[in-house]
Amino acid sequence: MNATPSATSRSTADLAARAAELDAADPLAAYREEFQLEAAPGVSAYLDGNSLGRPLKATSTAVERFITQEWGGRLIQGWTHDGQGGDGGRTGGWMDWPTDLGDLLGRVALGAGAGQTVVADSTTVLFYKLARAAVAAGRAAGHDEVRDEIVADTDNFPTDRFVLEGIAAETGARLRWIETDPAAGITPEQVTAAVGPRTALATFSHVAYRSGHLADAAAITAAVHDAGALVLWDLSHSVGSVPLALDEWGADLAVGCTYKYLNGGPGAPAFAYLAHRHQGVLRQPIQGWMGHADPFAMGRGYQPDPGVRQLVSGTPPIVSMVPVRAGLEQLQRAGIDAVRRKSVLLTGYALDLADELLTPHGVQIATPRDPADRGGHLTVRTGSSGVDFREATTRLWGAGVVPDFRAPDGIRIGLAPLSTSFGEVLDGMLALQQIVRNP
Ligand SMILES: *Cc1c(COP(=O)(O)O)cnc(C)c1O
Repeated sequence: MNATPSATSRSTADLAARAAELDAADPLAAYREEFQLEAAPGVSAYLDGNSLGRPLKATSTAVERFITQEWGGRLIQGWTHDGQGGDGGRTGGWMDWPTDLGDLLGRVALGAGAGQTVVADSTTVLFYKLARAAVAAGRAAGHDEVRDEIVADTDNFPTDRFVLEGIAAETGARLRWIETDPAAGITPEQVTAAVGPRTALATFSHVAYRSGHLADAAAITAAVHDAGALVLWDLSHSVGSVPLALDEWGADLAVGCTYKYLNGGPGAPAFAYLAHRHQGVLRQPIQGWMGHADPFAMGRGYQPDPGVRQLVSGTPPIVSMVPVRAGLEQLQRAGIDAVRRKSVLLTGYALDLADELLTPHGVQIATPRDPADRGGHLTVRTGSSGVDFREATTRLWGAGVVPDFRAPDGIRIGLAPLSTSFGEVLDGMLALQQIVRNP
């Protein structure tokens, strides 16, 4: 009827042309095709890859192959040899997977030399093991003054805070909380002001799960070390999207997820890093047979493995490591620096769209504007728009646009560089604009 397009449809066409240009210029665009995009035909914009990554096609093949050939074919022998006529010792069987996969992860994503990383358990459990070990070391250090304080920040991910509360109750350690701005994150100055001669452990998230703020890990690690304490980094929201340099920072301890940007699948095992210099010194509390120096000796008395394997407690989740390996192999091919370059473009693009489409309606942006200060996701808040973002998220999911809601009033737009296109970001932001315009 109306031959003249409205201003809105004109600008939508311009926006679509710009998104198509960005996708055409994206050197990582082909990696997106490696995911099982067709498995979710109703999803036009998946903006939650920071919470649960998509599956790769290669993951289906690898899991099928593992079940039929390795589990089905080798049965119990799979634990101790690699099918090459192993001798019952550790020659590449599943027993070695926690440390082999840990080494791959260290090389591809963590900036960690071999022999310092294991894959096991959940992030929560590994966080407990490392934090508890650090608190025990603070008591046993034989310093003039006992170190019996844990420094953490109030905006850290709930599981970390809850575990620390439990450790404080269990050990009598005192928790010293730094109040962080939920729209920003932890700074080196705040850390310097909070740590002291009583600090045993300081622990923070590298990328804040709400705002997406990227902490200055090198400076914060140095500030904690100046006070003579240990630092434990939670890398759940940075691993696979932000380059990490654990060895270079001089980090002591770290944990993180593999089901977010690493695409390991729901409940995929977590990882823990224990720097070489602490191995044989720090003792984690869950002493199990799989962390014993000789698991099959079945002898009396616990003898921890002298290396990072001590962090393993019970039988490792081998089947769940198969998708993690597939994700890491893809990341290795793409390269974390290229991933970060795309991540910065994606978050910058989403910020520009938010400025154009959402902030005129009162929506607030809760993510730092300087790319050096942010990780891989963007959070927008209700602000003065008056829109209930919890309900808006439900409506978006119904329309095939999948970000997530974070209380009290945030919508998190996760941009997984290997699986998210610029077109998807535009679709998602336009859908949110529709809701904000017609609440
Ligand atoms: C996702 C996330 C976790 C999750 O812990 P699980 O034990 O895997 O449930 C922990 N910490 C942070 C910072 C996270 O973002």
